[in-house]
Amino acid sequence: MKTITLIKGDGIGPEITDAVMKVINAAGVAIDWDIQSAGAGVIETEGSPLPERVIESVKKNKIALKSPVTTPIGKGFRSVNVQLRKELDLYANLRPCYNLPNVKTRYDKVDIVVVRENTEDLYAGIEHQVDENTAESIKRITRPASERIAKFAFDYAINNNRKEVCVVTKANICKLSDGLFLESARRIASLYPQIKFREILVDNCCMQLVQNPNQFDVLLLPNLYGDIVSDLCAGLIGGLGIAQGANIGTNYAVFEPVHGSAPDIAGEDKANPTAMLMSAIEMLKHIGEFEAANNIKLALFETLNANIMTADLGGKAKCSEFTQAIIDRLFVLSTK
Ligand code: ATP
Repeated sequence: MKTITLIKGDGIGPEITDAVMKVINAAGVAIDWDIQSAGAGVIETEGSPLPERVIESVKKNKIALKSPVTTPIGKGFRSVNVQLRKELDLYANLRPCYNLPNVKTRYDKVDIVVVRENTEDLYAGIEHQVDENTAESIKRITRPASERIAKFAFDYAINNNRKEVCVVTKANICKLSDGLFLESARRIASLYPQIKFREILVDNCCMQLVQNPNQFDVLLLPNLYGDIVSDLCAGLIGGLGIAQGANIGTNYAVFEPVHGSAPDIAGEDKANPTAMLMSAIEMLKHIGEFEAANNIKLALFETLNANIMTADLGGKAKCSEFTQAIIDRLFVLSTK
């Protein structure tokens, strides 16, 4: 039996985690979950939102499924997400965005994969107070990290039958930092002549995404633009409730939804577990459980097609009802 770390976070984290565990269980996959709590809920008892035991557990098991944790704004602890990605060197953040059946959106046939660099840029948190009225953040971009993520994007394109990688920067303004990211992407692109390479500035990219998203295939971005653009892409396909994600490094992989802990709806049985479930489907594929992954996806799609949806998608189902509807369809699929 495979042991996988399961990080239960804050807000809607526990609700969507329970939902996903139930669905995976119903799909017949035996997983020994190494359950680790993290986030605001453990600060008081353990003195840190990311206790060392959580990192140790992922290092031991190599794979984790993670629900969202609250990032305190302003002073306080460093973001759990950023720290986890950094400590495990999960350098690639992969966020596939495509339309789900029966989910009404402005555009059909959106199929974009956001590849976001995960370890540097303004996210490195190198900040200082110059004086009482001035603060500075350092946007650190290095050639090895930029080439590594560019290579990841092109390899992904090859392995997943994609046609184009588009690098997104603001290299006309941040000439040195984004300039280096762009230059690195250009060099790697020259090694993959079979994949089309395109360059775009982030402001124009946002406008183009909103006007004509179907023109994009794989997007390659530094950390901060990647964060913002992936929320934009989530909006194109129906919102954060369905946007999946994965953080991948050489030795470890952590699968997690794009959204945060949504404290505004926590504990109300309103959360949409789809984003976490889609992330879990990718995790199942990663460990070779292709049949279960496929069945869960089919059951999820059938549920959406039956117009059973949570409130964020305009439906009336509670998180628990939506989850049960998926499980009911899974049982029918497995007895076919
Ligand atoms: P973070 O800073 O942790 O990324 P955020 O500020 O981006 O968090 P989220 O927690 O992602 O905020 O939520 C943004 C909005 O989307 C909230 O109104 C929230 O209720 C909604 N939302 C996010 N995830 C879900 C979900 N799974 N189901 C339903 N609504 C969601």
